[in-house]
Amino acid sequence: MKTLDLPFLADLVAIRRDIHAHPELAFNEARTADIVARELSAYGLEVHRGLAKTGVVGILKKGEGKRAIGLRADMDALPLVEKNDFPHRSKHEGQMHACGHDGHTTILLGAARYLAENRDKIDFDGTVYFIFQPAEESEGGAAVMIEEGLFEQFPMDAVYGLHNWPGIPVGEMAVVPGPVMAGTCTFEIAVRGHGCHAAMPHQGVDTLVAASQLVLALQTVVARNLHPCEAAVVSVTQIHSGEAWNIIPDDAVLRGTIRTFKPEVQELVERAIERLCSGIASTFGAQIGVEFDHRYPPTVNSVAETELCRRVAGDLFGASKVRRDELPSMGAEDFAYMLREKPGCYVWLGNGPGSGGCTLHNPHYDFNDDILPLGVAYWARLVEAALGRAGA
Ligand SMILES: [Zn+2]
Ligand SMILES: [Zn+2]
Repeated sequence: MKTLDLPFLADLVAIRRDIHAHPELAFNEARTADIVARELSAYGLEVHRGLAKTGVVGILKKGEGKRAIGLRADMDALPLVEKNDFPHRSKHEGQMHACGHDGHTTILLGAARYLAENRDKIDFDGTVYFIFQPAEESEGGAAVMIEEGLFEQFPMDAVYGLHNWPGIPVGEMAVVPGPVMAGTCTFEIAVRGHGCHAAMPHQGVDTLVAASQLVLALQTVVARNLHPCEAAVVSVTQIHSGEAWNIIPDDAVLRGTIRTFKPEVQELVERAIERLCSGIASTFGAQIGVEFDHRYPPTVNSVAETELCRRVAGDLFGASKVRRDELPSMGAEDFAYMLREKPGCYVWLGNGPGSGGCTLHNPHYDFNDDILPLGVAYWARLVEAALGRAGA
């Protein structure tokens, strides 16, 4: 494994732990954005602030080249009570960096510093945009940055993202072309029967029996409609109805999530859900309505840029450490919005064992500082590969 010798590694660890101790939720990453802007300025980068409220873009130019790439990190934390007791545990009760965005932010700062300090030695010609985005978790901060002009103000040929991944060993990376994270859509199903005395069910239409049939029937959507080699998930995650043990209620609400990689699969799943709703409604004499709310699109890596990333990761970690087996995942990622606009590639960097609760969104999670230099090296080598003479 060829990592970089970073004389400022201790500074990076201090920044990472400081951000971990001061987590901030979606669009409120004011302190974090201040640190990012302060650091980028100190490294001599031009700094732009204000996109999507707390977004920061650092700009590093070298030479006359017109080529440009974006490297993106997310800055937000999760609404979760941290259960770690190390000194850098969250000082903001109920907020926690349980997804490692503190690490992603620090890795990107490290790359900016390394490239700025060594720009004369490093072979690249063009512009690197260091994109620090708010609100990756659920709120779509990437989409807001794009709506507010990210790619018009900072024209770039490709954009790259990275996420730490517990369970992948340190020194390994998962890099896969095509769909890597799923598109997500929520649904809400309103079931209306006819309430009555629980001892006299013949006088009503049992909302709960219809709703229960529906929950089971929804499990046939993927199993019996989709090509067996395609992927989708339909999960019912909420059922709300009833208040008494002797009343059959009028209404029930079911909610859940759909995950797919392709628009045509999403379409097929939605139509199948609608058919089941109307079929079960007529079977029981109930009324059933369904609404879909489309959230993050699928995250899809472009072929050429993914090949470039595989080459960079292979040079850095060794070809056998560049995995194809962990991705795709049915999780979702708002970097999808950036990859919908620009070619690019999203990778998973091994965070080490996922044991002891060190899994994403777990209250015992912590980003592994040992992988900071690996992430920095990956970004730095990627800049050379994309903008250097070898990549020309
Ligand atoms: Zn997350
Ligand atoms: Zn995350």
